[in-house]
Amino acid sequence: MFKSPQEKTISQKFCCSSSVMSGVQIEEFRAPEWVKPYISHASIPAFRVRLAQLPTPVQRFALPQEWIDHDPAASTGKFDVFVKRDDMTGSTLSGNKVRKLEFLLADAMHQRCDVIISAGGIQSNHARTTAVAARELGMEPHMFLRLKTPDQPHTAGSHGNMFLHKMVGTHVHLVPPLPYLTGLLPKMEALKEKLSETRGLASYIIPIGGSNSLGVWGYLMAWDELLHVDNVYERFDDIVLAVGSGGTASGLAIGNYLTGGKVKVHAVSVCDNAEYFHEHCNEMLRDLGLGDRTCSEEILDILDDYKGRGYALNTDEELKFCLQIAQATGVPVDPVYTLKAVLGMTTEMRNNPARFQGRRVLFIHTGGIFGLFDMRMVDHLDHAVVQTWHDERDEAKQ
Ligand SMILES: *Cc1c(COP(=O)(O)O)cnc(C)c1O
Repeated sequence: MFKSPQEKTISQKFCCSSSVMSGVQIEEFRAPEWVKPYISHASIPAFRVRLAQLPTPVQRFALPQEWIDHDPAASTGKFDVFVKRDDMTGSTLSGNKVRKLEFLLADAMHQRCDVIISAGGIQSNHARTTAVAARELGMEPHMFLRLKTPDQPHTAGSHGNMFLHKMVGTHVHLVPPLPYLTGLLPKMEALKEKLSETRGLASYIIPIGGSNSLGVWGYLMAWDELLHVDNVYERFDDIVLAVGSGGTASGLAIGNYLTGGKVKVHAVSVCDNAEYFHEHCNEMLRDLGLGDRTCSEEILDILDDYKGRGYALNTDEELKFCLQIAQATGVPVDPVYTLKAVLGMTTEMRNNPARFQGRRVLFIHTGGIFGLFDMRMVDHLDHAVVQTWHDERDEAKQ
């Protein structure tokens, strides 16, 4: 059977390391000055690999005024919303996970691993981004993907993120809807052992969402970009984003804390609850040696009322709103994360404006574009805009 060039056998492994094969090199990482006085030096990563297209642009987010103001007719106190397009960190490599992978995959390359193992839902953006990046760097991706129900067809379809898995030849291992620590992690470890025994390959395991104390550096460095490229402290009072596994929100909240805490960071949860995300962020604070200085509850506002029917599930109302956002602003949001974050942000702006520190708000678009193509939107698309063109001159001739 045809084997892709990256599928190494034992004999190839010893003559050719993954970093040499792909030509993309890891570089030494130098942390910005503002982290050094506080963060424990042992927690600073040694290496980074450049994967994201940076810096990402900041643009006006032209949400209709009646969505974001309780009294659109008032002459003062209006919200002014901008969007940082972290959905534009690349094309097939897009969204927030790319920034985390710059540190996680550099670690894997430094350890000369051949295989990347991770996990997520069937339409996980993290699993897709990790698989594409692994191929880019000459490593073999293995993803454990959770079916929503045990009886889904075993090909898992070819829509959205799954299309890209099949394009890049991700080894997809379908599993029932298991919990991470007790269900998925033991399977990832078993696969690692098996690949070592049967093919002599070294595997690197990345946790769900890439959210650990190495992945968090992706968004500590994004904070550096917000600070120095986007002038966040001069231009904005509040930042809003979606939270799914917690790494992105933790990185931004901790970066803000370390540089003066002048903006307020709000994270809209799409699963779990506020307690869970505070615990994750507190763990990151402890891992970075900041556990005695502050706590998540002081540096991160979690909006916990916008999960709707639950993770990766939508109401018809939400899907209609998804379409309205695209038509009003030209910015597509994904149904699982950024849609619920925009819903939470706009609802709070109308009903609870005091939750915001000011009126100049920056929304972080964390990506998810391929999840948008999983077909759930099809029934809600505006089919009325498509018509057959009748050329009047042709008709006049007949
Ligand atoms: C993973 C993801 C998030 C959540 O980021 P976490 O760091 O896991 O909290 C938000 N938006 C999109 C599109 C994602 O794929």
